[in-house]
Amino acid sequence: MNPLSKLCLHTITNKPWPLPELLDKYAATGVGGVSVWQNAVEPYGISQAASFLAAHSIEVVSYVRGGFFPGPNHAARQQAINDNKVMIEEAAALGAPILVLVCGAEPTAGLVASRNQIQDGIEAILPHCQAHDVKLAIEPLHPMYADTRSAINTLEQANDMAEIFDCEHVGVAVDVYHLWWDPHLEKEIKRCGSMGNLLAYHICDWKYPPEDMLNDRGLMGEGCIPIAQISEWVSATGFTGMHEVEIFSNRYWSMNQDEFLSKIVHSYKELYHI
Ligand code: ZN
Repeated sequence: MNPLSKLCLHTITNKPWPLPELLDKYAATGVGGVSVWQNAVEPYGISQAASFLAAHSIEVVSYVRGGFFPGPNHAARQQAINDNKVMIEEAAALGAPILVLVCGAEPTAGLVASRNQIQDGIEAILPHCQAHDVKLAIEPLHPMYADTRSAINTLEQANDMAEIFDCEHVGVAVDVYHLWWDPHLEKEIKRCGSMGNLLAYHICDWKYPPEDMLNDRGLMGEGCIPIAQISEWVSATGFTGMHEVEIFSNRYWSMNQDEFLSKIVHSYKELYHI
């Protein structure tokens, strides 16, 4: 069996590579899956990007990223709903079964109102998800992003939101970068799995201290996240999906991407003793 069959990379991780080159490199390396970011697709358009993906035997794991439902007024929130509907159609066209949601937050409205607006947004697009058979993965974000990026900051909150909908087209993405600090993480991963809501698992590491709040994520093994432990909790739920490496890093984006890809593969193999 290909030792990298459960390794998925987010296109943003190798941002300097254009999509066709990136897919060729992943295929040559044996990477099992890819999660496609909107910015990787934009230069080509959806149908051409879909044909690039179809030409490789790499599984399309998810499309990233929808959400950003809260807004300062009705028009802004309606625009977000329309944008998400387009992304659902794009995900379906790309063959991605999941649209990852960075849910958004509106600082002038506050967290409680933002969460209500997120719930309203998901409710508004759900029929579209069902029609196109694309699942929504609510990704809780670290609380340092609670101002403008997401009012869903713990796995408990994401589980609560998913369970409100109680529907196979709404689930959760667990990202170790956002959740590693949470004392309730093991319990909430178990809950997420037992409710059938664990749709995706993202890995990277937390450098201490990060030099940038967004773009200084570390390679697995480079920081303080107990990734092996968290991965065991995820596996214990029966999750058999991909382990998705999602690294935003000015440092790694500025280096030779072939070397970076080798480092990713090396750290992945070290992590899982492959
Ligand atoms: Zn993530």
